[in-house]
Amino acid sequence: MKKIGPLPLSLYESMATPLPLLPVLRESLRTRVAIIGGGYTGLASAVALSERGIDSVLLEAHQPGWGAAGRNGGQVNAGVKHEPSQVERDLGSVHGPRLIELSSRAPSMVFDLIEKHGVECEAERGGTLRAAHKTCDISSLVTSVEQWKTRGVQLELLNANDTRRMSGTDYYRAAILDARGGSLNPLSYARGLASIAAHLGSKLYGESRALQLKKTNKCWRVTTQSGTVDAESVIIATDGYSDALWPRLAQSIVPLYSSMAATEPLDDRLLASVMPTRAVLYEAGLVTYYLRRDAHNRLLVGGRGAQHSASTRNSYADLVRHAQRLWPELAATRFTHFWNGQFALTPDFYPRLHAPAPGIYSAIGYSGRGVALATAMGQELARAITGTPLTELALPVTPIQPIPFHRWWRVGVRTRLALATLQDALRS
Ligand SMILES: Cc1cc2nc3c(=O)[nH]c(=O)nc-3n(C[C@H](O)[C@H](O)[C@H](O)COP(=O)(O)OP(=O)(O)OC[C@H]3O[C@@H](n4cnc5c(N)ncnc54)[C@H](O)[C@@H]3O)c2cc1C
Repeated sequence: MKKIGPLPLSLYESMATPLPLLPVLRESLRTRVAIIGGGYTGLASAVALSERGIDSVLLEAHQPGWGAAGRNGGQVNAGVKHEPSQVERDLGSVHGPRLIELSSRAPSMVFDLIEKHGVECEAERGGTLRAAHKTCDISSLVTSVEQWKTRGVQLELLNANDTRRMSGTDYYRAAILDARGGSLNPLSYARGLASIAAHLGSKLYGESRALQLKKTNKCWRVTTQSGTVDAESVIIATDGYSDALWPRLAQSIVPLYSSMAATEPLDDRLLASVMPTRAVLYEAGLVTYYLRRDAHNRLLVGGRGAQHSASTRNSYADLVRHAQRLWPELAATRFTHFWNGQFALTPDFYPRLHAPAPGIYSAIGYSGRGVALATAMGQELARAITGTPLTELALPVTPIQPIPFHRWWRVGVRTRLALATLQDALRS
């Protein structure tokens, strides 16, 4: 097996807008809010708090965007995994409509932030295609269009011809075009958020893992290897990379790995047939892939893969095969980059908002939809800290619920994937 170098080393590592390394925390600081984790949730919280004039200190175990924020598919998608009616059924008549509204608006929040602050991150608002290969998935597309329509959002249902015209492949039988979505370079976006937060006055530190979180007389003390931060409030924004910092948080989510592969830049002939309209695409169904063309005309394909940090080309063979299935003309195209990363999956695919002790907040579990949603949750966390009653936030504040038999999550994921593959093969 050919080694492809130490991971994590995503395509983005070599292409993203540079950001000077953040300093290590080597002192004792006091601030209003300590933020733990430098992904979208933490960084967007820092920006939102700074905009409200609230001091914050952000501690990242590595550098901003080291986690899923710097490795993801770069798809900026609206909504959550479930359709609006189910969201209302599951979350009720108060929080259901609020989450639908927030998740619908979330892509605009991302693109507006990028535009307002001039973030260089290859942002494109070319829409999202949700495409069905199997006939049985077409009805879910129809339902989605109807449900969003009654909530004032027009999605376009595409037949097989139009789907082929937009995607360049005849693999799909139908699709929805959602104009709210688009794409960006995820690591550049994370670094852009870090720059904005620092510019607005937030203090950011890298290589500064929060090792302990303890209540003192008047505040919370966060301890790192070489410093401390005393804060009235703390935001824990560690998603799929959550550790033992807060009891049971890591056990409340599945830290699922998703894999990605990217081609060399495509030549003009291929550009005419591979995702010619540049709308990003994710699949409807049980075992799915997500695809887009980046600003340098590489094809990026993502999907299920090894449930560990994988550094052999073989671990990504399925992604390459799928891309070649969609576009046989890619047979001679080189795939040059392979990487994977973890995101927090919740058992019901809804994100969680926790406030497990006075002054402690956490937003976690975007279940693969975090580019837009985590940015939006940064605003919600800032609202909570600046006095908005918790009952008025978009998500209900819930207790942390560990998943039974959590230590066997890899076995659970492998079993679920095997079952889904089997089920998928039996569907038409
Ligand atoms: C391969 C892949 C593809 C994906 N594709 C998409 C997509 O196309 N569209 C989409 O919407 N979503 C996608 N996602 C999901 C999305 O990336 C995540 O939902 C999102 O990044 C979550 O942001 P976050 O800030 O909450 O967490 P992260 O970005 O994971 O950041 C958490 C950070 O916390 C830090 N940390 C952990 N513990 C500590 C500690 N004790 N002290 C200090 N720091 C700590 C970590 O180092 C990490 O940097 C994908 C995810 C992956 C892995």
